[in-house]
Amino acid sequence: MKAQPKASHFVDGAYVEDKAGAPIEVIYPATGEVIAVVHEATAAVVEAALASAKRAQAEWAAMKPVERSRILRRAADMIRDRGDELARLETLDTGKPIQETIVADWPSGADSLEWFAGLAPTVTGETVPLGRDFVYTIREPLGVCVGIGAWNYPSQIACWKAAPALSLGNAMVFKPSEVTPLGALMLAEIFVEAGLPAGLFNVVQGRGAVGASLVTDPRVAKVSLTGSVPTGRKVYAAAADGVKAVTMELGGKSPLVVFDDASVEDAVGAAMLGNFYSAGQVCSNGTRVFVQKGIKARFLERLAARTAGIVLGDPLDEATQMGPLVSAAQLEKVLGYIATAKAEGARLVCGGGRAAPNTGFYVQPTVFADVTDGMTIAREEVFGPVMAVLDFETEEEVVARANDTEFGLAAGVFTADLTRAHRVIARLEAGTCWINAYNLTPVEGPFGGSKMSGVGRENGRAAVEHYTQVKSVYVGMGPVDAPY
Ligand code: NDP
Repeated sequence: MKAQPKASHFVDGAYVEDKAGAPIEVIYPATGEVIAVVHEATAAVVEAALASAKRAQAEWAAMKPVERSRILRRAADMIRDRGDELARLETLDTGKPIQETIVADWPSGADSLEWFAGLAPTVTGETVPLGRDFVYTIREPLGVCVGIGAWNYPSQIACWKAAPALSLGNAMVFKPSEVTPLGALMLAEIFVEAGLPAGLFNVVQGRGAVGASLVTDPRVAKVSLTGSVPTGRKVYAAAADGVKAVTMELGGKSPLVVFDDASVEDAVGAAMLGNFYSAGQVCSNGTRVFVQKGIKARFLERLAARTAGIVLGDPLDEATQMGPLVSAAQLEKVLGYIATAKAEGARLVCGGGRAAPNTGFYVQPTVFADVTDGMTIAREEVFGPVMAVLDFETEEEVVARANDTEFGLAAGVFTADLTRAHRVIARLEAGTCWINAYNLTPVEGPFGGSKMSGVGRENGRAAVEHYTQVKSVYVGMGPVDAPY
């Protein structure tokens, strides 16, 4: 199995190679085999990417928004036309089952390009009358934006950052995670085929140091990171030094609260989606499932039965519902959390170990019950198919316990009581919430976290605030009234 890209980087409208950079092996997580090798960007590659972005951005910003949008819409159409091929590449890069990548990853990226292409031409300023004089405002692009991606949704993340950035007149230099470097290169290639001028979307490969060199460059106006809280802290601090704008999409330990009156099947289905989709490697997952005592037995019974039916296997087989974790390192990390959960007294309901085939990084879908708030599994982000079920009795109690975390990315509530649903959601400290649903993230809705889970929002109209700045222009219409 090979998925070797034409070259490691995409700079100024073309593939670029520089083998002086350290090699990065791309591993297919289902088998452990090396499917491609790319090289880390050297300082020369980073410089070329930033210089071309800076040059291209000025002309791009001067174009009419509808002209920019036409190109992005074409790119969205091309992504949809090439859906099968792109899904296969995403599966090779991440190990996620093709039944997911064909509907979720690139399709969500295409949605985002299409939606921001539609929105951008409607973004206008305002006029503020001041009697004789007036103020008007212009929403201007920021300039060169840096995007840094995580490995769980590599192509979706690249699109979610590129779509608002480019549609609103910015340029982007994107650094994918070293674990999943392939999808962003395809996006760059598609953009150029769709007519995007050279230099507006560059991809440079590398580990954290390459990301850090982008963040500190004075030509960069904004940094958008999707990653963990520790990395977010470092990148935010580096950006602050240059007083740059940031969007931080970081980790979570989100509560999913199931009240007694909820539909058991719907709540179980949502808890499974919110813990097992993408083998649990989703930042907004509801990994603390609080179940009210009256429904607990039925919930766990249906959860165990339905979890036992999950089909693990070859990610390229359309029947496979769960693939491996993304890397050997992630496998070790998740197995470590499972061992700790057992040692700390959580009750294993199902799963709890590696799954065949052992050449791949597979973990069984795992459920722990009787989890208490202090256990490691209830406090730290696992990023694997491991669900923690906690019991609760009252609304007041569950709200306090759900909020007792440094994270604030997402939260969900299942109940048939309309007023309780809204009352509880209003009190949960999280940026992205669901009522009787979980983990649906349409591009139309803002997405992001509060507390340590992030700063800023992706998607929705809210993203416009984070990829533009307001210029305020005072217009004097009469003589200047100076006291001198
Ligand atoms: P990391 O935080 O390890 O890395 C994120 C990205 O930052 C990678 O591209 C990484 O490069 C890069 N990076 C690392 N150090 C630096 C640095 N000092 N300066 C600049 N860039 C740097 O996250 P993972 O890739 O392991 O992804 C998993 C995490 O992402 C989870 O915690 C998850 O919750 C979070 N996440 C958040 C989402 C959200 O929207 N809120 C969505 C998806 C994931 P490299 O990998 O090459 O070292």
